[in-house]
Amino acid sequence: MNPICNAIGGRLVASNSTRIVDVFDPATGEVGGRLPLSTVEEVNGAVEVAAAAAEDWGRLPPLKRARMMFDFKRLLDENADAIARAISAEHGKTHADALGEVARGIEVVDFACGIPHLLKGEYSRNVGPEIDSWSDRQPLGVVAGITPFNFPAMVPLWMYPVAIACGNTFVLKPSERDPSAVMLVWDLFCRAGFPDGVLNVVHGDKVAVDAILDHPKIKAVSFVGSTPIAEYVYARGTAKGKRVQALGGAKNHAVIMPDADIERAVDALMGAGYGSAGERCMAISVAVPVGEKTADALVAALKPRVEALKVGPASDPAAEMGPVITAAHKAKIEGYIAQGVTEGAELVVDGRGLRLQGHEGGYFVGGTLFDRVTKDMTIYREEIFGPVLSVLRAESWDEAVGLINAHEYGNGTAVFTRDGDTARAFADRIEVGMVGINVPLPVPVAYHSFGGWKRSLFGDHSIYGPEGVRFYTRLKTITSRWQAGLRAGAEFAFPTMK
Ligand code: NAD
Repeated sequence: MNPICNAIGGRLVASNSTRIVDVFDPATGEVGGRLPLSTVEEVNGAVEVAAAAAEDWGRLPPLKRARMMFDFKRLLDENADAIARAISAEHGKTHADALGEVARGIEVVDFACGIPHLLKGEYSRNVGPEIDSWSDRQPLGVVAGITPFNFPAMVPLWMYPVAIACGNTFVLKPSERDPSAVMLVWDLFCRAGFPDGVLNVVHGDKVAVDAILDHPKIKAVSFVGSTPIAEYVYARGTAKGKRVQALGGAKNHAVIMPDADIERAVDALMGAGYGSAGERCMAISVAVPVGEKTADALVAALKPRVEALKVGPASDPAAEMGPVITAAHKAKIEGYIAQGVTEGAELVVDGRGLRLQGHEGGYFVGGTLFDRVTKDMTIYREEIFGPVLSVLRAESWDEAVGLINAHEYGNGTAVFTRDGDTARAFADRIEVGMVGINVPLPVPVAYHSFGGWKRSLFGDHSIYGPEGVRFYTRLKTITSRWQAGLRAGAEFAFPTMK
């Protein structure tokens, strides 16, 4: 089995590292690949290559950069199925879910294709006598991205298309658990005609991350992953003078009001709670029905649906969710379920001990449902990142909102109601970055921006969309005086960019 290579300067480069980890197929528990964890010298080498490419790339007219993005987008569209298969093979999510991930990643490339418009800047004539002023957003140089396992194609695509369209070159350190989709996409990126060194991929763990954070030529770092690491990356990166946006973990609540359509709310909770085995930072992990009657109706409707959840490998087209990422993560989730029981929550559906015929070595956890969870319980306070939905009963809307506002995470939330006043007040008062009104997974489209509040995001900028352009550029304002016009001669042909 050939080890997975880094991608530096437009070609695949074998790592010399002696630290090598296995990449597993979570549906079988079998080893599917071997990944060397890059050394500091290898990361530094990639940064030098990116730095050498940065000047020419940053000077290229944005329209030329955009044209390569259009080609990249076309190649992504043509190869979406293959990318989705690579994701499922190492992550375990179903094919339909993986296709959705790829589609949402491509939308960011769509956005990046509009870069000439996005970099237009602002102009003011006559700010003084014969003086004009304009503001311009210029690239930073070399920027880097560090990404998590749960969206191996989409989260990197949240970052580098925008950064590169803005005129930066990029060093990407993907998750060591499912690195292959990134390599497939990198190959398409090269085929789209981007110059060598514009996008570089170095695989690795903390050693590679620290090398990125410490490298003086890297001007900005985008991170997506768990909160403890996000906080660490933010602290170390900013201490080294870098711009850092570090997106962390989540505990997303859905409030179900007494006037909500329960069947629709249950449909929404099933998809948002158990889709991708709950391994989404926007997954709903807490349902907050308001009033005992709503709670009883909700739990009664959820129970048979959770029991009937179809768990299976991505190769099974009927599967609604796949395995979790590793054996260790499965054990961690099952540990949380045991702790919930110990701490007094009512276990309505127990997903532990699931074994699928023919996939006995796979890391499957069945859909799990807790009722009567309270806010002091570990399963409520901590992110489980698995197919576990907790029902926490609230007496009133105020109690539900207070609960969410008091939680340390503030990534996403949703309210299910038929009342406009309730919905509007919820959107207004809730201390969470992304809010759904009868929408369970309010992941912003690519021309808005994605980001949580509180301990779900460290830094000042959300990711992709207009915020992404701001993050990956710096503002320059020019003030100029011309007392006499220059003669440039006559140009009769219609002006074009040559
Ligand atoms: P993780 O924090 O373990 O890993 C993320 C990245 O950090 C990986 O590239 C990894 O190699 C690196 N890393 C891990 N340990 C490190 C250390 N000690 N020092 C330096 N770098 C280290 O996260 P994960 O398990 O891959 O992903 C799941 C987490 O990501 C969940 O908490 C989830 O909520 C979060 N997430 C958040 C968002 C968001 O947008 N807020 C999106 C997706 C995932």
